[in-house]
Amino acid sequence: MSTPALLENYVAGQWVAGRGEGTTLTDPVTGETLARVSSDGLDLDAAFAFARDTAGPALRALSFAERAQRLSQIVATLQANRDDYYAIATANSGTVATDSAVDIDGAIYTLSTYAKLGASLGEAHTLLDGAATPLAKDGSFAVRHVLRPTPGVALFINAFNFPSWGLWEKAAAALLAGVPVIVKPATSTAWLTQRMVADVVAADVLPRGSLSIICGSAAGLLDRIGPFDVVSFTGSAATAATLRAHPAFTERSARINVEADSLNSALLLPDAAPGTAAFDQFVREVAREMTVKSGQKCTAIRRALVPLEHFDAAASAIAERLAKTTVGNPRNENVRMGSLVSAAQKRTVLEGIAELQAEAQTLYDGNREATFIDADAQSACFAPVLLGLRDGASGQRVHDTEVFGPVATLVGYRDVGEAVALAKRGQGSLVVSLFSNDALAMRAPALALADAHGRVHAVDPSVAKTQTGHGNVMPQSLHGGPGRAGGGEELGGLRALRFYHVRSAAQGPAALVEALTADAVELPK
Ligand code: NAP
Repeated sequence: MSTPALLENYVAGQWVAGRGEGTTLTDPVTGETLARVSSDGLDLDAAFAFARDTAGPALRALSFAERAQRLSQIVATLQANRDDYYAIATANSGTVATDSAVDIDGAIYTLSTYAKLGASLGEAHTLLDGAATPLAKDGSFAVRHVLRPTPGVALFINAFNFPSWGLWEKAAAALLAGVPVIVKPATSTAWLTQRMVADVVAADVLPRGSLSIICGSAAGLLDRIGPFDVVSFTGSAATAATLRAHPAFTERSARINVEADSLNSALLLPDAAPGTAAFDQFVREVAREMTVKSGQKCTAIRRALVPLEHFDAAASAIAERLAKTTVGNPRNENVRMGSLVSAAQKRTVLEGIAELQAEAQTLYDGNREATFIDADAQSACFAPVLLGLRDGASGQRVHDTEVFGPVATLVGYRDVGEAVALAKRGQGSLVVSLFSNDALAMRAPALALADAHGRVHAVDPSVAKTQTGHGNVMPQSLHGGPGRAGGGEELGGLRALRFYHVRSAAQGPAALVEALTADAVELPK
């Protein structure tokens, strides 16, 4: 077998090959080797200095509208190469086309949204945060809060499950803010990220060095993080804890945004009995969330909360849908769900299921009689598994063990108060969804759950065709969650710009405070 190509890194405005053999990327279905990555031997000091000192000022010389225009050009570049991205996703992530779309088209949609939002900020270079407030009785001395782009670098350390969207959902806001980006994708699926960066670099749409990529080990990256740099991390809570302890944050006070794992729930309200439209919507959504991207979505439903009296009906209806999920090689058009990202991930999923089975029963296991289409047992293919725990309050692990695969637990509750409490046993999650036949019945639980969830997604029959999906992250809506979910905030329209800016209270004579508004625009709320 020939040695696969080494993917180069792009740093300090140049392509550079890492030293040594590097790490090999493989096809999770066929086991074929695809590419290698290495970050050994890179001059990281030069990489950060170039981004910070050369690319940053060039980017910030552009207005918001001009940077938004660059985002539109990135969109055009990615659209032109879309077929190649689908092929890479199939090979390296094992995803069927509809799942690749979540990552690839989701990224393009997010970038286009930020291009439009950015254009609305016009030719400004400064954001204003609120009106001027007098500090003297006669109004001669006043304060106005201004937001200026941080004069550093945005380092992204990303998870394996979104090699495309994971880069662009962050880069859209950073580049629009005028902050250069260095991305370190997760090693196992770095190919797609690397290829997209290569295409954007080749298209020459950004000031040189505004977008860098380092594939392979993250060693040494945080050591270069200075006080005005920001780090955005997406991955497991365990890695996040290691990162947070780094002197970059504990001593140099760089800011870090963490998007970590999460025990998201979907809540069927008592009125949504079997036979009603909301019950069917709930069942469809749970099954869909379990199987999209083989459940490797940070927002996927991990706990499906149902009134005890509907437990059995929900179990059989969800199982019936899951049984229709054909699993196997994503190249076969009869396959609805591809594979997990790697054999290692499959082992982790199996371990997680065993942990949950210590307290939950198995309601459905598609692996029992699984025949994978065009794939064998050695592949990373894995069929859906639905577990169940009637007495939700008695559980521990179902509320704190995230199994990052096509796995969820049906959890019984006695009344809505208990359901809310159970959802909050996740200690802070990215998203909770509510299902009822009555929109207004969801008001109280929506508000009760909002303090522990980055997003509350409510569905009734009137939005059957228009709702955006429990797990779909819309750029207009906040993404992130308190507590266990990492405490981060991304997206949410122009709110995302905040992370890439420094807020300062500019105090002075009223004339100066008034003059600050030239070349500035109020950050829309
Ligand atoms: P992970 O193992 O924590 O890795 C995430 C990233 O951190 C990878 O790029 C990894 O690089 C890097 N990394 C690992 N150890 C590091 C260290 N000591 N210093 C610096 N970087 C380090 O997570 P994963 O397995 O890729 O992703 C799955 C997890 O991500 C799940 O728990 C999921 O819930 C979470 N996730 C959350 C969101 C969200 O938006 N909230 C989105 C997607 C995924 P290597 O790949 O080179 O090891």
